[in-house]
Amino acid sequence: LHVETQLGDGVAVPVDGNPAHYLISVMRVKPDDIILLFDGRSGEWAARVRDMRKRDLVLECISQTKAPEEVPDFWLCCAPIKKGRIDLIAEKACELGVAKLQPVLTRRAVVDKLNLDRLHAHLVEAAEQCGRTALPELGAMVKLDALLREWPDDRWLFFADESGGEPLNETLRAHPGAAAFLIGPEGGFDPAEREAIRAVGKAVPVSLGPRILRAETAAIAATAAWMTLNGD
Ligand code: SAH
Repeated sequence: LHVETQLGDGVAVPVDGNPAHYLISVMRVKPDDIILLFDGRSGEWAARVRDMRKRDLVLECISQTKAPEEVPDFWLCCAPIKKGRIDLIAEKACELGVAKLQPVLTRRAVVDKLNLDRLHAHLVEAAEQCGRTALPELGAMVKLDALLREWPDDRWLFFADESGGEPLNETLRAHPGAAAFLIGPEGGFDPAEREAIRAVGKAVPVSLGPRILRAETAAIAATAAWMTLNGD
């Protein structure tokens, strides 16, 4: 269960808001029940239900059951695409172990704003399902040129270029270390954007094969390929 406060050994965790309702009304916990908690940064903790009142309850942390995990240093940067599809990308990125999900506004994006709370909720749900205790960081939407201007010089920027790039696996193998994949929107990148991306020192254009993949397929396939070579 994802709680909103810092977990610590023996600390009573006042659980309020949705989690309390879920525990009391859905899971119908009783005093002395043991449940597992995570807060996205302190690992996973076993906690005992201590006091219960009508609308909230106090949980006492007993022991840490999973250490805070280190996830591979990989960012998935993708243009905002239609609602259900960006939700899918968020969920799969979380399961695949992505460290950061960074929405990037590009010229041909059909969607120009995102509901970050909804995306965050998908990340939490995916983390609970896959047993991940460190949530992926979710960046606020940035424009492509701002992202490129600030690109860190210690991170490869693999750029999924549907107009052609280096072969995927040998390119990933030849560029070990901290990385990111940049995936375009349904409408693809425009020529000026391609040029701006290629001008970044750490940018490496990569092909994901001969067919034109949907953005969500490209995001998932690229992440899975990188994780296969560099993941945990
Ligand atoms: N409408 C565009 C395709 C966009 S696909 C066109 O018809 O050309 C959405 C994004 O997925 C692209 O911007 C690219 O980042 C990625 N992508 C899709 N297929 C790819 C491929 N074969 N190689 C590399 N990237 C690909």
